Amino acid sequence: MTEAGKTEPMACRRCNEALNEFRAELADGAFTGEIQYVHVFEDAHDHAPEPRPAAEVPEEDLVFHCDFCSSTAVKWCYWADPIKIAVLDDEDRVREGSGFSIDWAACQRCADLIVLKAIDRLADRAVSCQGLPADMREPQIDLYIEFFATRKPGRRRIKRRRT
Ligand SMILES: [Zn+2]
Ligand SMILES: [Zn+2]
Repeated sequence: MTEAGKTEPMACRRCNEALNEFRAELADGAFTGEIQYVHVFEDAHDHAPEPRPAAEVPEEDLVFHCDFCSSTAVKWCYWADPIKIAVLDDEDRVREGSGFSIDWAACQRCADLIVLKAIDRLADRAVSCQGLPADMREPQIDLYIEFFATRKPGRRRIKRRRT
């Protein structure tokens, strides 16, 4: 993994969604210096992301997705090392060299499974809640094994507005 330093979290100026960060990499894994910010579900938006520092917005106004099941009812933030994610295009070619996730948001139900280290049940939940094809279960399991292997102790409550 390229050690390119931690960047500031970004949110979309138009919809307040916390944006995912992709770092373009060369074939040898070197960071190109190019960072791209994307919505979690690009298809769900009628606009391109307009990144601005998330710190400019009160946390309770930001929209987060659970990094496990995609629920927006997030409650906890966990910390893990950056994890490399290959994003494939329709022909299964690597489109993005690397994804970067340091802060992991989780809803209460996924947090209950994190306490149990129930990787199988987290993967089942991700597949059913996000309507993923069955062959996405294995990559989810690999991702969660990485998460648990590099997870830092503790968690933080994400500020939410009372409704
Ligand atoms: Zn947006
Ligand atoms: Zn969840």
